[in-house]
Amino acid sequence: MKKEATINEVAAEKKETEVLGKCPLCGNGIIEGHKGFGCSNWKSGCKFVIWKNDKFLSAMKKKPTKTMVRSLLKNGIVTVKGLTSKKGNKFDANLRYEKNPDSDYFSWKMDFAKN
Ligand SMILES: [Zn+2]
Repeated sequence: MKKEATINEVAAEKKETEVLGKCPLCGNGIIEGHKGFGCSNWKSGCKFVIWKNDKFLSAMKKKPTKTMVRSLLKNGIVTVKGLTSKKGNKFDANLRYEKNPDSDYFSWKMDFAKN
């Protein structure tokens, strides 16, 4: 397991926080943090976050970008291009980020792009 030691240093010095969309759980703004894109209402206990080092995406050599997050929050689904399969092939897929029925956590779900 990797550990990241420098989480707290970065957050303080940002000037303006850019809101990328609405939190699907509580409706507050989603903002970019050091480790992920998370709900600005986290202080009140909202757990919504899209991790930048998400295993599902990193297995396909992708990291979530602002553009992806914006589109996902707006449409509930995002088309991600240039994913890499286990065999090394590039492919596109539609991804959703869904709440697990038995917890407050979300995970990525894939629909293959039809074309
Ligand atoms: Zn929230």
